[in-house]
Amino acid sequence: MKYNRILLKLSGEALMGEKNYGIDSNRLEQYAQEIRKVRDMGVEVAIVIGGGNIFRGVQAEKTGIDRVQGDYMGMLATLINAMALQSALEQGGMYTRLMSGIKVESVCEPFIRRRAIRHLEKGRIVIFGAGIGNPYFTTDSTASLRAIEIEADVVLKGTRVDGVYTADPEKDKNATKYTTLSFQEAYQKNLNIMDMTAFTLCQENNLPIVVFDMNKPGNLEKIVSGEDIGTLITSI
Ligand code: UDP
Repeated sequence: MKYNRILLKLSGEALMGEKNYGIDSNRLEQYAQEIRKVRDMGVEVAIVIGGGNIFRGVQAEKTGIDRVQGDYMGMLATLINAMALQSALEQGGMYTRLMSGIKVESVCEPFIRRRAIRHLEKGRIVIFGAGIGNPYFTTDSTASLRAIEIEADVVLKGTRVDGVYTADPEKDKNATKYTTLSFQEAYQKNLNIMDMTAFTLCQENNLPIVVFDMNKPGNLEKIVSGEDIGTLITSI
């Protein structure tokens, strides 16, 4: 196995599936199955989920809600997704714990690093909801930070595209995919992998990132087994 402990980042939008808003239950079930496969291989799995399918802080400013308030609304949106994912994982027969960056004691535990690691060691899937718990951050930054804190081997960023391209493959037909990239090159070429805060955290802590297509069954398993799926971004 190439990775023993992974931090899987899923965007909120990914949960919409074919819908325009909210959560697609088929998509959730599909993700649960993919996660189950790596869990059954003995991989320790932590997950950060976004909230973009429900609410984004920057959106709020347009409607007169101040940015900080909007960001907290965004964090609550990630918790809704996290709870839905938790249910799907449990229905798939997995043990889970949801840990929140803000206090929501009736539904989940607060994030405590040592406890998170203990859950992982016991084979529980740990979902980090509510981001870092601070405004002006994103769930990508949360993924990088939590991955470093729990000493994950890699951040796996599940997207709709199968890696990092020279240009946006949905707009430019001539775009080609990178199999590997260094942090330096990704930065110099201005390739949009994560926001800068998230990206820099990974770079400074030598934490590799894999960008891959989460919607293709088997991909997650293949990455963990060491196959060259998606784009691997590392220090070298
Ligand atoms: N957010 C935040 N602090 C965090 C994580 C998230 O304020 O640590 C807010 C922010 O407003 C963000 C929203 O939660 O827009 C939803 O997260 P994100 O946009 O990262 O979700 P994704 O794009 O992955 O669906």
